[in-house]
Amino acid sequence: MVDEDDAPFLLREELERLVPFESSARSSFVGRLGDLLDCPDDLARIVYDQLITYATRRLVLTARWLRRPEDDPAAYTVRLRTFIRSQYRPPHSKVDSLVSLLQACVAASSRRPSDATRNALVKEARARGLRCYLCGCDLSHDGQDARRAPTVDHVWPSALGGASMPTNLRVSCKACNDAKNDSVGHADCAFPRLSTHVSQSDGSFSNALPWTFRFAIWSRAHFACTLCGASASEAGPLGVSRTERSDNWHLLNILTTCGRHRTPEFQFP
Ligand SMILES: [Zn+2]
Ligand SMILES: [Zn+2]
Repeated sequence: MVDEDDAPFLLREELERLVPFESSARSSFVGRLGDLLDCPDDLARIVYDQLITYATRRLVLTARWLRRPEDDPAAYTVRLRTFIRSQYRPPHSKVDSLVSLLQACVAASSRRPSDATRNALVKEARARGLRCYLCGCDLSHDGQDARRAPTVDHVWPSALGGASMPTNLRVSCKACNDAKNDSVGHADCAFPRLSTHVSQSDGSFSNALPWTFRFAIWSRAHFACTLCGASASEAGPLGVSRTERSDNWHLLNILTTCGRHRTPEFQFP
């Protein structure tokens, strides 16, 4: 039996092994478009990650959809195996491991952390003065600021098989939890839309870069300052800056910055 903690990551790794990233694929349409936009490797990698996430999501959600309330475990295994063999084309030797990983993901996705677990995590965050692990804001434990209210977030979304275990749970602010939803990172957001002509000194910059996009930008930097590596929880509120000042704001031209590496000009609203 596969450990539920690891199942979604092992599933993703299995897909990556079945269809590996080929950095030499410069002649593909993504490679050629990347050449045109002067970001051949970045673009190819982000498209690859996005499609691997798509495949992971599709498999887990299909496996959830295939489960019937009246199923016993053996009947579900048979149905899942039949479906995988008839609708997908993994090598024969991989079918059983895919079926076990999907079963573990489906089992995890139906669990939720208990109120006691949630309360204990929030209480601990308060006692230790922890910040939101995603954006670095100070959590509002007294209910004064609903956007910064502490919530318990699944690092890997439960809808996609993330376990409701302490290893996969963190305390985040409500704004980040809502923006993250069941996304697994920057490659999982609508990144081609993450581009704006609005400048940071403009009042509409916040609207042009809503929290879902900020989450995507910070996720690309693993929720840490790109320049010094300090994490959001250590460094406090994260901001953004451009890598190339002569270029516009778009995902591949935005850095994540901590307070120390933010100039007043780049103060995030
Ligand atoms: Zn946050
Ligand atoms: Zn920094």
